[in-house]
Amino acid sequence: VQKETSIVLKGDICYSIDSESVNSVSGGYLVCIDGICQGVFDELPEQYAALQIHDYQHSLIIPGMTDLHVHAPQYSFCGLGMDMELLEWLDTQTFPEEARYADLEYARKAYQTFTDDLTHSVTTRACIFATCHLKATEILMDQMEQSGLITKIGKVNMDRNAPSYLCEESAEASIKDTLRWLNETSGRYQRTEPILTPRFIPSCTDELMTKLSQIRREWNLSVQSHLSENMSEVDWVKNLVPDASGYADAYDRVGMFGGDYPAIMAHCIYVTKEEQNLMKQNGVYVAHCPSSNTNLSSGIAPIRRYLNEGLKVGLATDLAGGHSISMLQMIVNAISVSKLRFRLIDEKEKPLRFTEAFYLATIGGGSFFGKVGSFDPDYEMDAVIIDDSELCKLNQYNIQQRLERSAYLESKIKIQAKYVAGRQLVI
Ligand SMILES: [Zn+2]
Repeated sequence: VQKETSIVLKGDICYSIDSESVNSVSGGYLVCIDGICQGVFDELPEQYAALQIHDYQHSLIIPGMTDLHVHAPQYSFCGLGMDMELLEWLDTQTFPEEARYADLEYARKAYQTFTDDLTHSVTTRACIFATCHLKATEILMDQMEQSGLITKIGKVNMDRNAPSYLCEESAEASIKDTLRWLNETSGRYQRTEPILTPRFIPSCTDELMTKLSQIRREWNLSVQSHLSENMSEVDWVKNLVPDASGYADAYDRVGMFGGDYPAIMAHCIYVTKEEQNLMKQNGVYVAHCPSSNTNLSSGIAPIRRYLNEGLKVGLATDLAGGHSISMLQMIVNAISVSKLRFRLIDEKEKPLRFTEAFYLATIGGGSFFGKVGSFDPDYEMDAVIIDDSELCKLNQYNIQQRLERSAYLESKIKIQAKYVAGRQLVI
């Protein structure tokens, strides 16, 4: 009996070789054994002749994308509150809505909408913030596991500077719930993993962070949080943690800033040279959230500089600071804001090219999950099949041009099928 994750996909295949170039194969064969890519071929090699072929004819076959930073509970108010900046937006939109996830019936409904929409997007992997409610977080994890997407999900920690209806009672209470959450979900999933999720420095006391760091070591977990999104926030952190040399150090000094374990920091807009060096040294991932950074008037992250310096970078929707669940839109937005930064802030920072942004959305963020985001041999086979025939009616385009038009003219395309680690999802 053939395993469901051993399969051949046929179609017009396109994936990044590196950040500068893509490999395109018209009518190519993408071979996958036990969820792992064996390569892309013009003709199907003899040794794979017995595998089942899914022939997608002239559709595009591209790697699935990784959303490196997204807030599942905020999806329910997506598109609201866009006249505000971060701190006001948190108080008036985010915290009141997140409080509703104490109600498990509401959580179940709201999270199902998010899960369904993510399943129907080009995203195959995601690093997700839930809320501080452990039971609701487990519901989200159950639903994500059920969808077949591969995700890392965090119960949020916050023991200060949040309204009393949402704030966890104490560092101790937050730690107790975190351990309970880890114990209750341990061994329950194949495609869903916990990730430690202190909201950001303003929401977490040193006591909480230090204890989380201990849990991180004991449970061998990765970490996700926010860094230098907004200038008022950066000033606030200076006042809250006067002993730290900066925002990044506020995490580092309590052992929550990568190094011998993976960490993602969202935004990273106002990062000093020293902080940038620390991020590089510790292998911290930058989750670049161009849509959110525009909506909340946060600023423009210096992504060109990070790439030149060899930092790890992926793209992210940051729902609901961002308003689109689509990583294709994030590719377009990342390019757009890089052009504004180049023109208005520093002409030494050249705008991102399409191939670079595509690379960031696939291999860039995918690498947080291992060998993910390419069809080269040994990569896990995450693939999205796109019917772009509406866009090819008048003129002929090469495959790379079709991919670029599919991103910019997304409303004209259809997602036909989707595979995650070789398994076809129901979409
Ligand atoms: Zn965020």
